[in-house]
Amino acid sequence: MNITMIGAGYVGLTTGTCLANLGNNVICMDVDQAKIAGLEKGEMPFFEPGLKEMVEQNVKEKRLTFTTDMQKAVQGSEILFLCVGTPSGPDGKADLKYVFSAAEGIGKHINNFKVIVDKSTVPVGTADSVKQKITESMENKQEFAMVSNPEFLREGFAITDFTIPDRIVLGVDDERAKEAMTKVYKSIARTGRPIMFTDIKTAEMIKYASNAMLATRISFMNMLAPLCEKVGGDVKLVAKGMGLDNRIGPRFLQAGVGYGGSCFPKDVRALTGTLEENGFDAGILKAVDVVNESQKRTLVPKLKKLVPDLKGKKIAVWGLAFKPRTDDMREAASITVIKQLQAEGAKVKAFDPVARKVAETIFDGVEYAFTPYETCEGCDALIIVTEWDEFRNLDFSIVKKMLNSPIIVDGRNIYEHDEMKEAGFTYVGVGR
Ligand code: NAD
Repeated sequence: MNITMIGAGYVGLTTGTCLANLGNNVICMDVDQAKIAGLEKGEMPFFEPGLKEMVEQNVKEKRLTFTTDMQKAVQGSEILFLCVGTPSGPDGKADLKYVFSAAEGIGKHINNFKVIVDKSTVPVGTADSVKQKITESMENKQEFAMVSNPEFLREGFAITDFTIPDRIVLGVDDERAKEAMTKVYKSIARTGRPIMFTDIKTAEMIKYASNAMLATRISFMNMLAPLCEKVGGDVKLVAKGMGLDNRIGPRFLQAGVGYGGSCFPKDVRALTGTLEENGFDAGILKAVDVVNESQKRTLVPKLKKLVPDLKGKKIAVWGLAFKPRTDDMREAASITVIKQLQAEGAKVKAFDPVARKVAETIFDGVEYAFTPYETCEGCDALIIVTEWDEFRNLDFSIVKKMLNSPIIVDGRNIYEHDEMKEAGFTYVGVGR
């Protein structure tokens, strides 16, 4: 099949490459000329495990091409995936300007029947508005069908999530579109992964509802964490005990330094906006956001209990990306933590296995190290923000030697209190 991805970001590039890898001819189109020029030279715009190799292979076999030319992108394929960003606007609601600008481009260049598949996360009802935008922008009337195909990939596991998804959700209202999408996902359906066809609005709603539920679970545990700290109890064990209940399950129950990334924060706020716009109370979701934002600010006060005056002190920070296996720093907790440290007059020395380049565009005055050990050298304490696997089995006798004082504030509860105490550290986690 001939498929175009409009927007070659995390979603468009990874999904497009995976679709090319299944034998389709895929055009990845983006308005960002530097991104497309880089991709044409084999440079990846972000880090995703296994993606670079897959892009190289499919480019070599001529199934994957890149362009900034909207006409070529629209007219070259029968199926067009919308994968542009839908960031939070100033009021927290989803800003749909990229979606509508892509829709206008489609309308302008559409030359025969197309299936337009919205993969961007958008508020319920957006497919209708996109349909209208495309129709209004048409120079020659053409037929087309809209599909809502929300994306559930996790950065760091994007290829696996494409190949073995928990589910594929397809909102359709046109038999031709249903047939085309069945063909697109045929090879994945063959492995037994469920495909759920719904109406378009239900599909749009499923995406926001899923992310809002996951964020709610995290904030729920982060609400309990300070209570455990005050009255006793270990939130990690509380989560384990809760998770053993089949009705609850163990995932997304980790208290920590709060969720970040390009999805949970903005999707919680966007669903809040949709609820309120329709006259409903979004109290639960507002609380989820408030708990999360305040959780990001809890590590530095914990450090200040151990090092009251941070002025002139140097603090090591492990982990900058919003989660492991990605260099994405959108709404990362590390941004809040490092800015707080700098506001207290502390110097920061940071390490992240892959996010350094991105971090350099965000922070001023941060020193970077190449290993976790080197980060600690000459620092007065260590703060852990991202739970990279690289941090799990380190030699803490080296960490202790490198630090001026053996103080660790761990925002991800990676280690056990007893072990760290035995290793000679003052160790503070979250909710324990
Ligand atoms: P991104 O910012 O990485 O990529 C979006 C791309 O769209 C950018 O490269 C941008 O230049 C391009 N773009 C903007 N306007 C354009 C236009 N008119 N024509 C062509 N290209 C245009 O965003 P992303 O992380 O890939 O997210 C895309 C959508 O998918 C969002 O709605 C997001 O919520 C959703 N989503 C993201 C993830 C994730 O893990 N990143 C997971 C699930 C869903």
